[in-house]
Amino acid sequence: MPGEVDTEDYADVWVFIEQHDGEAAKVSWELLAKGRELADEKGERLVALVMGDSVTHLAEEAIERGADEVLVAEDPIFEPYLPGPYGEQFRYLVEERHPDVVLIGGSHTGRDFAGRVAVPTYAGLTADCTELDIEPDTGLLLAKRPTFGGDAMATIKCVEHRPQMATVRPGVFDAAQPDPDREGTITEVEVVVDESHQRSRMIERVVGDITDITDANVVVAGGYGTEGDFGPVEDLAAALGGEVAATREAVEEGWIEAARQVGQTGKTVKPDLYIACGISGAIQHLEGMNDSKTIVAINDDPNAPIFDDADYGIVGDLFEICPALTELIEQK
Ligand code: FAD
Repeated sequence: MPGEVDTEDYADVWVFIEQHDGEAAKVSWELLAKGRELADEKGERLVALVMGDSVTHLAEEAIERGADEVLVAEDPIFEPYLPGPYGEQFRYLVEERHPDVVLIGGSHTGRDFAGRVAVPTYAGLTADCTELDIEPDTGLLLAKRPTFGGDAMATIKCVEHRPQMATVRPGVFDAAQPDPDREGTITEVEVVVDESHQRSRMIERVVGDITDITDANVVVAGGYGTEGDFGPVEDLAAALGGEVAATREAVEEGWIEAARQVGQTGKTVKPDLYIACGISGAIQHLEGMNDSKTIVAINDDPNAPIFDDADYGIVGDLFEICPALTELIEQK
C-alpha cells in the first residue's frame, strides 16, 4: 500500500511554527506546550519547524518555549506563505528526517498546509482536534475530535502510516511560556524549493476586521436571550475592552457572524473573564468556554444550567443588567 512504512524508523514530535510577517501564530506556542508533554511521554525530542524570511528570532523563541531543536528553512521564497513551496519543503524534511508526530495549528493557513503535506507523504491526518494523548502501550498518537456534527467525539489513531499528523483548534491548550535559560539546537536546513514550486501567487492580503475571539482576555457572549439585540452585549464588551461572542442559536438566527460562535462546533476560548448573557448553558456551548478563568452568567431564569458552571451568577434581565454594568465600568 502506498505510504506504508517501517514505523520504527520514525521518531520525535514536530510542531509547525506558523508565522506571518515574522510574528508567530499563538496556536503554535499552544502546540509547543502540548508537544512538549507528548514528547516527554514518548521519551522523544520536541522539534519545531520554522519557515520564512528572517525568522531566526522565532527559532530562538521556540527553544525558550520548549523545543529541543528548531529546523529553520529561511529564504525569501517562504514569504508570504504559499502552499507550493511550504508543502514541498516540508515533504523533503519528512522524507529526510522521519518525524513520528506532526502538529499543526487548525488556522486557515495550518489547514491548508496540513493537507498539502499529508497527501504527498501519505501521512495519516486528523483535522480539527480538541485533545491529544499518547496511547500508553503503543506510543501512538490518540487524536480526539468532534464528529457527526458534534454529536460524538472520535478518537483516531494512525497505525500504519507516518508521520501521524494532526491539526488542532486554536485555544484548546495553554501557550508554552518562555524560559530564557532553556537551551536547544537551531539547525539551518537546506532549502530545496525554487520558483517552479510557486504555482500560485499572493496578489493581495486582505485582513478582515474580525479579531480572533480566541485571543481575547475578556469575552462577552450573547445567546438566544438577546432576541437579536446584541447592543447591550457589545457595549459591555467595549467597556471591558473585550470581544463579543455568541451561542450557535444566535449564529443560526443570523444575529452575528459564525466566526464568533463559541462551543463544540464553534471556537474554544479561555479568557480571564467570560460573561454569558442570555445563554442557557447547553453542554455544547460549555465545551467551548468552561476553561475560562472567571465565568459570570446573566440569566433571568434562576434554574438555568449555566449557573452551575458560573463563578458568579446574576439572575435578571440582561437588558437591565448589561447597561447597568457598562455604566459602572465606564464611571471607573
Ligand atoms: P437557549 O438555550 O434558548 O437559552 C436562552 C437563555 O436565555 C435561557 O436560559 C433564558 O432563560 C435566557 N433569557 C431569555 N431572555 C433573557 C433576558 N432578557 N435576560 C436574561 N436571560 C434571558 N451551541 C453553542 O452555543 N455552540 C456550539 O458550538 C454548539 N454546537 C452544537 C453541536 C451539536 C451537535 C448540537 C446538537 C448542538 C450544538 N449547540 C451549540 C446548540 C446547543 O445545544 C444549544 O441549543 C445552544 O447553545 C443554546 O443557545 P442559547 O443558550 O443561546 O439559547
